[in-house]
Amino acid sequence: MGEGQSRREILAGSSAALLTAALPACGRAQEAPKRKLGYAIVGLGSYATRQIMPRLKDCESAKLVALVSGTPEKLERFGSEYGIPKTHRYSYANYDRIRDNPDIDIVYVVLPNSLHAEYAIRASQAGKHVLCEKPMAVSSAECEAMIAAAKKAGKKLMIGYRCHFETYNRHGIELIKSGFIGTPKLITSEHGFNAQPNQWRLDRPLSGGGSMMDIGIYSLNAARYLTREEPFEVYAMESTDKSDPRFRNVEDRIDWQIRFPSGALAMCASSYSSNHNNWRATGTEGWVGMEPATGYEGHQMWTRKQGRTEQVALPAPAKNQFVAQLDHMAECAMGGREPIVSGEEGLRDMRLIEAIYRSARENKPIRVGGA
Ligand code: NAD
Repeated sequence: MGEGQSRREILAGSSAALLTAALPACGRAQEAPKRKLGYAIVGLGSYATRQIMPRLKDCESAKLVALVSGTPEKLERFGSEYGIPKTHRYSYANYDRIRDNPDIDIVYVVLPNSLHAEYAIRASQAGKHVLCEKPMAVSSAECEAMIAAAKKAGKKLMIGYRCHFETYNRHGIELIKSGFIGTPKLITSEHGFNAQPNQWRLDRPLSGGGSMMDIGIYSLNAARYLTREEPFEVYAMESTDKSDPRFRNVEDRIDWQIRFPSGALAMCASSYSSNHNNWRATGTEGWVGMEPATGYEGHQMWTRKQGRTEQVALPAPAKNQFVAQLDHMAECAMGGREPIVSGEEGLRDMRLIEAIYRSARENKPIRVGGA
């Protein structure tokens, strides 16, 4: 081992050679932006205020220009902190007036799930581009209405699938695409955490469902982005302790299998009572896996091929996943390109979630689109 060279760097090994290919195209400055597009953030909760708003200052194509909240104290506090003038602070009651504010180009909906459709559609109707958090909505019918509204307005719609902008996940996709693991045969992916009681996530009218909607969607989306295939069948099983007061009207645990046209199978887990955060893609020649896989930071990746297991260490990207996601939306809005995670991507997951719920309810495999 050379002077100052860490074990992780040594272990970066052959699979890291694809690094340049793995960097998201949208994360590089492709077209010099004429100006930074303005984001309005709708819903000043934990994700918006702790993860998104602080990152906007690091964007090269976007900036924070407006806030929407039902709580005047939050508008005052975050408005002062981020230098947002009173003219650019909105309540839910006067939200539609964003139409008259030319500084707002993009509306980022970061509300509880069942409010996504309404606030996204109203933003489209106000002539704004929309970035909406995952899950896109609480039904495929709502997703279709959101897509139709954006189309009618001639504006973009993107879903907050930030892992598509995260360096290690991008690298995993590229490794599989390059044939590193041979023909993909099995994807496993588990996501879960211990849900705290008394929150909207456990209240079906606001959440639309339990762990599947909130965290299991990462397992589902990973199975699709790793295989780059659309499934033709899902088979699910729910295990919820109904005596646990947290799970009176939403599911705790749901496990499912997905079959892809190539013959690859995915086995996925979603839980509100145990911690999981991983995926592994195994093929005829080896495997690539991550744990933690889809968190905000601290991603770790390993590969195994020809009897050697290596930890992959990638250099820090120029933009983290949050900044890359925010810039991508702005660059698509400016350049007219479709976002890599468009409304259609959210709709595909939602249709599968509906099939997963139905399969668990009816205890049988459900055929879905695809082959
Ligand atoms: P949160 O509870 O911290 O914030 C929700 C916000 O919505 C709060 O400010 C709340 O005041 C507001 N709100 C408006 N109307 C409400 C109503 N009727 N009931 C309850 N709250 C109401 O939640 P969060 O963790 O910030 O999640 C918000 C959205 O972001 C969800 O869709 C969630 O799935 C998504 N999210 C995404 C990620 C990610 O990594 N992409 C991470 C966390 C959350």
